[in-house]
Amino acid sequence: MSGELWLTGVDVFRLIAAALVIAIHTSPLESFTATGDFLLTSVLARCAVPFFFTASGYFMVTRYAKDVGRLWRFERRTLLLYLAAAVMYIPVMIYKGDFAGHEVFIRLLRGIFIEGTMYHLWYLPAAMTGGAMAWYLVRRHGYPAAFAVTGALYMLGVLGDSWYDLSELIPPLRWFYGEVFTLTSGTRCGLFFPGLYFVLGGWLRERGSGQKRGRSALGLGLSLAAMALEALLLRRAGWGRRYTMYFALPAVSLFLFSFLLTFHGRRLRCRGAALAAYIIHPMVLIALRAAARLTGLWEALVENSLLRFLAVSALTWAVSIPAAVICDRLRHKEGPAGTRRAWRELDLDALRHNAGELLRLCGPGREIMAVVKANAYGHGDFETAAELERAGVRAFAVASVDEGVRLRRYGIRGEILILGYTDAEYAGTLGKYRLTQTVVSPEHARELGRRGVRLRVHVKIDTGMNRLGTRWDDLEALRGIFEMKNLKITGVFTHLSRSEGTGREDAEFSALQGERFEQAVKGLERMGFRVPCRHIQSTYGLLNASVPEEGCCRAGLGIYGVLSAPGEKTARRADLRPALSLRARVALVREVHPGECVGYGREFTAKRESRIAILPIGYADGYPRSLSKGAGHVLIGGMAAPVVGSVCMDQLAVDVTDIPDVRPGDTATLIGVDGESMIRAEDLAESAGTITNELLSRLGPRLPIVTCHGGAGAKDSWK
Ligand SMILES: *Cc1c(COP(=O)(O)O)cnc(C)c1O
Repeated sequence: MSGELWLTGVDVFRLIAAALVIAIHTSPLESFTATGDFLLTSVLARCAVPFFFTASGYFMVTRYAKDVGRLWRFERRTLLLYLAAAVMYIPVMIYKGDFAGHEVFIRLLRGIFIEGTMYHLWYLPAAMTGGAMAWYLVRRHGYPAAFAVTGALYMLGVLGDSWYDLSELIPPLRWFYGEVFTLTSGTRCGLFFPGLYFVLGGWLRERGSGQKRGRSALGLGLSLAAMALEALLLRRAGWGRRYTMYFALPAVSLFLFSFLLTFHGRRLRCRGAALAAYIIHPMVLIALRAAARLTGLWEALVENSLLRFLAVSALTWAVSIPAAVICDRLRHKEGPAGTRRAWRELDLDALRHNAGELLRLCGPGREIMAVVKANAYGHGDFETAAELERAGVRAFAVASVDEGVRLRRYGIRGEILILGYTDAEYAGTLGKYRLTQTVVSPEHARELGRRGVRLRVHVKIDTGMNRLGTRWDDLEALRGIFEMKNLKITGVFTHLSRSEGTGREDAEFSALQGERFEQAVKGLERMGFRVPCRHIQSTYGLLNASVPEEGCCRAGLGIYGVLSAPGEKTARRADLRPALSLRARVALVREVHPGECVGYGREFTAKRESRIAILPIGYADGYPRSLSKGAGHVLIGGMAAPVVGSVCMDQLAVDVTDIPDVRPGDTATLIGVDGESMIRAEDLAESAGTITNELLSRLGPRLPIVTCHGGAGAKDSWK
């Protein structure tokens, strides 16, 4: 996305892979060396198509998804491309006689759905089948299961391809392939071949960066050598029905792709040329043959395999590169999706960093429970939870059952604790989505227990906050909860009410709460109950309070890299980085003469010749109205522009008289870094008369979330 570094290595290899496919179909070394030709077209070049599948999987397959959008877009694009390519090759099919003879209909159906209407077009229906299969398996069953299923199918594919004669010796396999080959001429099709590579692509992305170039290169070299050996032995033995799939090929693809992922840089404008070249090169070959036959002049050219390869390549690239560049121009006129008006930018690296920092403070053996209630404090629950789970966080907390269900639907697997009250009526939902409910009172426990659904719960113990929870000194009530049928108690916790402060009284009250909690736990243990996982601390508890350090830390603010108010001192220092920026595009800049007013109620009257920029963001987006009339400011070009007049529902005005060259389309920063300047959420909240938590959790409804790596992300990448 916007702030991410472009995968230049992958883009460049797209073109190389297309060149390898052209080599497969033109055999450049045929005139010179049979073994060399085999090694090039049947071994080396065979990494091209798996590479394309892996690349598609990398961008499309995911454990975490808001909806089926990515899959659907991929399928639609591939289908359209396939239709266009099929239409393009109709004359060739007529010439080849595909529409004549017996069983035209069956042959056409097989061509359309399995093998492609031209020999190389099998790739497109195969990508549609394999992509959908991988997406489904990964989403529903996770990577291990997806690897197992697609890996097994791939093995069947290899046994029906380059290892075919071995299968002939094994009766069940012989029968199996006998059946398969009545449907398709080879196992190189959507069912057997692509799935594994799509899964591999998604897995590589989700595992995150961190590939080592040297190690990948070494692995690539070794696996290529292994594949060459495998292929040469099979050819010597004459076992292959075809030589397109090998057992060593997945390893080659893994190392090749890992290697390519280490090259970052600029976006290649002609990357689309690879696909175009893939589709048109057989046409170019046919045209070249026809021309050669007609003129006689080029006969030599077609017969010399190297010249043939070069001629087809030259013509193919001459058409596909300009076409790709033009398409790229047309498609990339727009900036990153979501940045048209006003948007939130989420720095995924900051989230990871903060989780690591909090974990460090927690000390060994403890874990973070990431609190992602209220749409992850306005940071986007899906984006935040998915990234944290990828980073190794295994527990999450939300406020309501609906928030928990949302996370499950997005693919979050870890424990999800609902901190707030849920009516027992929803016991079924809690069970179905494997959500852990907080028992907020003895009555709540009875209600939940009565539903006849076995539920995982954490028992909240009130130690002085007097909000939710059963009193620490009411051991009889706690016993009742622990004896409740149907409740599987997997944790007990309490919440500190004065951990924000660093004063003596604050520390004393936190310590008292800690003691009360201990007392309750000890009491329960004396009654013979096993008290599992205990947790007390939230972010401030971790940073300030001297309470028993055990169990997990329920961290919200700290994960997002903010504190409640500016300049707060904490007992322990943490290096936390704000993860969220808020930006808007300048809609227009107008001149306002002295004496003229801006906005509702004539709140602002220009005292000088002024330039006023209008920003398309207002209090309906969560930008507080209390920041009107100069209480708030934004950054444009790294300089401060005060808010003038009142913040409206959908827009606000800022004074840019002192900032040179502000133009419509420029980016204004409302929270975050711009050049040398920065607006902290804490400061903005204070100006608005509230705390960071409220400000951030109210950001939203209309503000899309753009993820990036590194703070300045999207803003730098385009203006
Ligand atoms: C919201 C909440 C937290 C998270 O607090 P932060 O100060 O954001 O870390 C922890 N525990 C409970 C019970 C909460 O409601």
